[in-house]
Amino acid sequence: MQKKIARTKKRAARRIRETQLFAKALRSPRHPILVHLVPTRRCNLSCRYCNEFDSSSLPVSTGTLFTRIDQLAELGTTMIHLSGGEPMLHPHLESLIERIRSKGMIAGLLTNGILLSQKRIEGLNSAGLDHLQISIDNVEPDDVSKKSLKVLDKKLRLLAEYAEFDVNINSVLGNYLEQPADALKIAERSHELGLSSTVGIIHDEQGQLRPLGAEQRKVYEQIKALQKPLFRAASHNRFQENMVRGLPTDWNCHAGSRYLYICEDGLVHYCSQQRGTPGIPLADYKVDDLDREYRREKDCTRYCTVSCVHRTAWLDTLREDPYEALKQFFPGDEENWTTASLPPVVRGLTWLFLPDQRTRKPSLFSKLALRLLGVR
Ligand code: SF4
Ligand code: SF4
Repeated sequence: MQKKIARTKKRAARRIRETQLFAKALRSPRHPILVHLVPTRRCNLSCRYCNEFDSSSLPVSTGTLFTRIDQLAELGTTMIHLSGGEPMLHPHLESLIERIRSKGMIAGLLTNGILLSQKRIEGLNSAGLDHLQISIDNVEPDDVSKKSLKVLDKKLRLLAEYAEFDVNINSVLGNYLEQPADALKIAERSHELGLSSTVGIIHDEQGQLRPLGAEQRKVYEQIKALQKPLFRAASHNRFQENMVRGLPTDWNCHAGSRYLYICEDGLVHYCSQQRGTPGIPLADYKVDDLDREYRREKDCTRYCTVSCVHRTAWLDTLREDPYEALKQFFPGDEENWTTASLPPVVRGLTWLFLPDQRTRKPSLFSKLALRLLGVR
């Protein structure tokens, strides 16, 4: 019972911090919302579709990573997610998380979960981790991927019991994976354990999108049906729906500005799939660089599969044209779309925070609510 109360308290405090930081993200486009920071390129697995790891690199020194975290804080970053390779191979992972939190940012971890134990989970709790995500590829390990439910189920049980941070289990669909029904089993198991779940579409070895086959699309719809309406909208947006069908999406990518990928050498890249551009050292990256990349049109947008960058772009649409952003996430009748088609919670938030849809003028309530959050 005590554990449950402590967990609930931590979650409530996290939601308040997140709301304040997202309000800041909505207030100004001149800082990164999400950064993926690589503490080591090495991985203890070797998934066949992956182009983001090696088996021999040494971890980046902790002092160097502290400096990078501080530089990201100076740029006004909202969230840092530690990725890799496998970030849990870094010998001072918990200190990196503490450093991120001490600078007022949200700390996340993308891991294959192999190294999780009760002790490591408690260490992550103490360090102040906010979010953890594990991607699971199949039920039984095969020669494409060993990130399987059979291997990781005991880790999921440990997370359900001991983690005080938010845990998301991402299952994947893609033509490389031979058993699409596995994704549904992984999502069902996550729900059974009280963990949230998403489904991602994986790219091929060249980072390119391939449309899903009929069986994979059916599984995608079944996983979608498992989720609550609000969560479903957040994770099954127009980008994802187009990806499933192999269709292009027109959007403005703000990678290099609202999203940064910092490699083990401390260079800023657009994302894991566009490494090398702009390739500027983080130490030299300034607000002018953020502004330039915010405006730059990228020629890889139409078939992009990098969903975390899609989400940051949606936040910018929300700032620039809130009703257009809502339409994109909760599409209905294109011609006669109104807020009546929104889920009740979102309709309430819209009423509270957004200007009137017709007059575009803010109500007294929305003025007050935005001021309380520091958005206006
Ligand atoms: S566990 Fe992750 S980083 Fe490692 S090889 Fe697989 S996909 Fe790549
Ligand atoms: S469009 Fe996609 S692949 Fe291209 S830079 Fe943006 S996030 Fe990366």
